[in-house]
Amino acid sequence: MKNIAEIRADFPILGRSVYDKPLVYFDNGATTQKPQCVIDALTEVYTSYNANIHRGVHYLSDMSSEAYENSREKVRSFINAGKKEEVVFTSGTTGSINGIAFSFGERYIKPGDEIIISHLEHHANIVPWQMMCERKGAVLRVIPVNDEGEIIFEEYLKMLSSKTKLVSVTQVSNALGTVLPVNEIITAAHSVNAPVLIDGAQGIQHGVVDVKIMDCDFYVFSGHKIYGPTGIGILYGKEKWLSELPPFQGGGDMVDKVTFEKTTYNELPFKFEAGTMNFTGAIGLARALDYVMSIGRIDIAIREKYLLSHATERLSAIKDLKIYGNSVRKIPTISFLLKDIHQYDAGMILDKMGIAVRTGTHCAQPVMDRYGIDGTIRASICFYNTREEIDILAGGIEKVISMFA
Ligand code: PLP
Repeated sequence: MKNIAEIRADFPILGRSVYDKPLVYFDNGATTQKPQCVIDALTEVYTSYNANIHRGVHYLSDMSSEAYENSREKVRSFINAGKKEEVVFTSGTTGSINGIAFSFGERYIKPGDEIIISHLEHHANIVPWQMMCERKGAVLRVIPVNDEGEIIFEEYLKMLSSKTKLVSVTQVSNALGTVLPVNEIITAAHSVNAPVLIDGAQGIQHGVVDVKIMDCDFYVFSGHKIYGPTGIGILYGKEKWLSELPPFQGGGDMVDKVTFEKTTYNELPFKFEAGTMNFTGAIGLARALDYVMSIGRIDIAIREKYLLSHATERLSAIKDLKIYGNSVRKIPTISFLLKDIHQYDAGMILDKMGIAVRTGTHCAQPVMDRYGIDGTIRASICFYNTREEIDILAGGIEKVISMFA
């Protein structure tokens, strides 16, 4: 593995300062920074082969179509999907979940059917299902969580029945950092023949994801959270589901034959890719996955474990700091509050010290409601962060506390 100085040198933005202080970036859960190779990939498209994909017969269009389809293959291999046809490009996690919620609802859901999610979900894995349930007269059921921020598995098992038509859960809570037992969730759902969608927005960048071993029916994630560009995401679906589901958008490229009487659809995966796709983003994402592989996913996970343990030790030693989410299975995300200090005030003062943390509900209001709070301060760490940055954060928090004392 490269040493940390070499890794940080790959990310030009990490060398900048804010308010004349070195940037300490702990908002990786919201979006990650980009290595130079990803920035270069986008520039290469625009400077050497930009042309719309799958349409032209000309040289540049061939080049961009080939690069786009090679990117699909790269994603397939990264998540170990069986076939390229099972990998659909979308605008991101939100786009992928909305697409499946719409298509699945149209194809399979009847009044009284049940969809199960967990209390740990991001709004992107709540609202599309609520919209689907409203449209179809279905019922949304929610797996409760305990004080540590873990789902209560026995309650989940009790919810499963022949009425369960789909289970959609996050792999990792963005608000608390909890890693969910997705393998066990999937096995249990399959015992009542319910497919499972895994929201991998916070999971894909912290370990090895193998959709075959996981045996999920759908797996979704966003490029920008795994060091790739914004506006590109993935919807993986088992072929048997994707071939049965209707498309969620209509337009160019997703069709086979169009007449005013009837339109037939293109084969997989193009059936789900309507209009000009973000091919530049797809190419950038593939470059980001190459970068992650070059560092090594196991090495990333080991380094992040070490950073989490240091951050937990430093932050939990601070008097009047309370950590929310204390599962033993966590990614390096620490959500916390300071006694009698509003999270926005703390966040703004930390910002002036050059430390970027997230404050608020993290698009997971139900999680906040579960703990009777209106938000937290969240430090989301990743492999390019350092022990020294964690110490700067701890020192910054001490300073905030002393300012309010
Ligand atoms: N799901 C989880 C767990 C997330 O953390 C996020 C973003 O923070 C999303 C879904 C939505 O991702 P995007 O905004 O990239 O679509």
